Amino acid sequence: MSFIPEIETKSKSEIKSFQEELLVQSIHYLKNNSPFYQRHFATHQIDSKKIKTLEKLIEIPPTTKDDLHNFNWDFLCVPRNKISDYTSTSGTLGKPVTIALTEKDLHRLAYNEMISFACADANPNDIFQLMLTLDRQFMAGIAYHEGLRKLGAASIRVGPGSPQMQWDTIQRLKPTGLVAVPSSMLKLIDYCEQNKIDINKSSVAKVVCIGENIRDENLKLNSLSQKISERWQVKLYGTYASTEMQTAFTECSCGRGGHHHPELVILEILNADNSPVREGEVGEVTITTLGVEGMPLLRYKTGDMAQLFMDPCSCGRTTVRLGPILGRKQHMIKLKGTTVYPPAIFDILQQAKSISDFVVEAFTNELGLDDLKISCVSSDEINALKLVKDLFQSRLRVVPEILFTTPKEIEAMQSSPQQRKIQKFIDRRK
Ligand SMILES: [Zn+2]
Repeated sequence: MSFIPEIETKSKSEIKSFQEELLVQSIHYLKNNSPFYQRHFATHQIDSKKIKTLEKLIEIPPTTKDDLHNFNWDFLCVPRNKISDYTSTSGTLGKPVTIALTEKDLHRLAYNEMISFACADANPNDIFQLMLTLDRQFMAGIAYHEGLRKLGAASIRVGPGSPQMQWDTIQRLKPTGLVAVPSSMLKLIDYCEQNKIDINKSSVAKVVCIGENIRDENLKLNSLSQKISERWQVKLYGTYASTEMQTAFTECSCGRGGHHHPELVILEILNADNSPVREGEVGEVTITTLGVEGMPLLRYKTGDMAQLFMDPCSCGRTTVRLGPILGRKQHMIKLKGTTVYPPAIFDILQQAKSISDFVVEAFTNELGLDDLKISCVSSDEINALKLVKDLFQSRLRVVPEILFTTPKEIEAMQSSPQQRKIQKFIDRRK
């Protein structure tokens, strides 16, 4: 059985008309069931019957995170007793938003993750160890589990435990793959080295990498994934998803960006004026969900900045691919005229082999401008400082304040009771 849906190998024009058919159904559904979009159409004088093409779709003003936050329950299109699962956004920017899924949405989510895992060369014989939060209303946990189930593969729901617990489980159950945050893989590699274990003799052959980029904007492996690959010869696959869109963009073995699934979302990349960017330009990832029953979204601006790759992929899929998320729109930092997002700063710090952990803080300096303070842990502070300073100078033409501290202090800075993920970037700007 092939797990590549037929539509993902069709021509651009066939994909477009396929999406437009689904769009008409979606708009009709929203018009009848969504209090938020009924109001949105009325306020902006949108005749929903006329929205039949992707060109027409862009006449509808986008939906923002604020809309979803302020009118959360107006997005619900079904009675409360049809909800099967209450998930929430991580709340990295403000209060969490609830995304309610119906039974049908859970099936859609499982389908989405099944074809995403298939993109990452997963097959029914695979066993994936899930090294991520599985509770706390985190959608990804249930998505990976259900997707693997649908694929006919198996899950080991370890969650984000200590390297020792991860390793013991790898030894005991012999998973063929992991779903993990790349920096937690480094901790696992360190653990194995400290305990004289040859990690390359483990059963793990592939890793679906979540939460952090493994590539730079040119799709080359970044410092973090190079650091991993030098010490552990596993195949890495990047993936990007968000709770609101209930859809993932996962790389195939070609590693040329995350594949778009046209049966699940309409994808746009918008500039600051909410118009589509020109081909190859960076903009805000904006999605229209297809086939969502509980809380469908129309032209929802995710806040994530990325670019599209349109050239055909050698895996046989003709769908566009989404490049790595360069950063969140709100996290854009201006340093002496250079625009930079936190992942690019992380990449510099990850170049220093002796730096094992760090936190980047942005603040407003006395001149009212963006500034950075970096705290890190290193086993070789003098050389790490020199290397990192040189890299900042050459890449960003500015050297921020760099301090060294203890692993304990860094861990305290990174954790927050409200967050499911550790924070490597803290925005203290006014
Ligand atoms: Zn591909």
